[in-house]
Amino acid sequence: MQIIRDIATLHRAVAALQQGGKSVALVPTMGALHDGHLSLVRMARRVADHAVVSIFVNPTQFGPNEDYAAYPRDEARDAARLVEEKTALLWAPDVAVMYPDGHRTHIEVAGLGADYCGAARPGHFDGVATVVAKLFNQVRPDIAIFGEKDWQQLAIIRRMARDLDFAVDILGAPIARDADGLALSSRNAYLSPEQRAAAAAFPAALKEAAAAIAGGAGVDTALAKAQADIIAGGFDSVHYVALADADSLERLAEYRRPARLLAAARIGKTRLIDNLAVE
Ligand code: AMP
Repeated sequence: MQIIRDIATLHRAVAALQQGGKSVALVPTMGALHDGHLSLVRMARRVADHAVVSIFVNPTQFGPNEDYAAYPRDEARDAARLVEEKTALLWAPDVAVMYPDGHRTHIEVAGLGADYCGAARPGHFDGVATVVAKLFNQVRPDIAIFGEKDWQQLAIIRRMARDLDFAVDILGAPIARDADGLALSSRNAYLSPEQRAAAAAFPAALKEAAAAIAGGAGVDTALAKAQADIIAGGFDSVHYVALADADSLERLAEYRRPARLLAAARIGKTRLIDNLAVE
């Protein structure tokens, strides 16, 4: 696996991979790789001839009081796991390569980033959209794969790719979960053993609410019960539990397909997100 840190070398390496009409699928990550990330890499190898993974902890998607400095980083361990998954190339630019002095441009996907996580994290999705657009232009992949774990992010990137005519197929990958249902996340590493045990209440409450709504229960009642169950399970606060149109992310007061249950809750200092299809 080649580890590349400058754009000129990257362009040559990706062009070599694409020679003879071969395809490249990109999996953008912030590192601290877990089995959820690796399931995306496996999907990349299924849908394309070569998997390219990027690791970049993107400062512009962290708020001033968020965990940018503390975000877990272990490139050597990540690289070893990517070699096991037969990744062709790891794109790991420094901040100065991604954002050289004088960098002024950003992308906003108007509206889609305002609610849910965007309301709690102003500017977060502008940071995400901007870095993903840059990654697309740097790597020039045929396909890019994002986890459904970050449903709002996936919806925003699909819209950006469509609006800006990126010639990249965007694929969503199913959420990888631990045995007790908790979605795998780099931030799960912040949880104490007690918090980790309690955290299973979060996906359990969402699963119950999704089943209730799909079965005809009132949306408000089901969402309120999910919120109460998450708190009763040991969480300190619920940022939102909402039923949304799966594509436009518009809030739904009544069930209609395709719908997605979206949620964020805090346990101790750790904010966890999750989502589920309602069908
Ligand atoms: P991150 O490193 O957190 O930015 O995540 C990189 C990519 O992995 C994103 O597309 C995430 O949606 C995806 N991802 C993270 N956790 C999971 C998971 N548990 N299941 C599926 N995809 C995931």
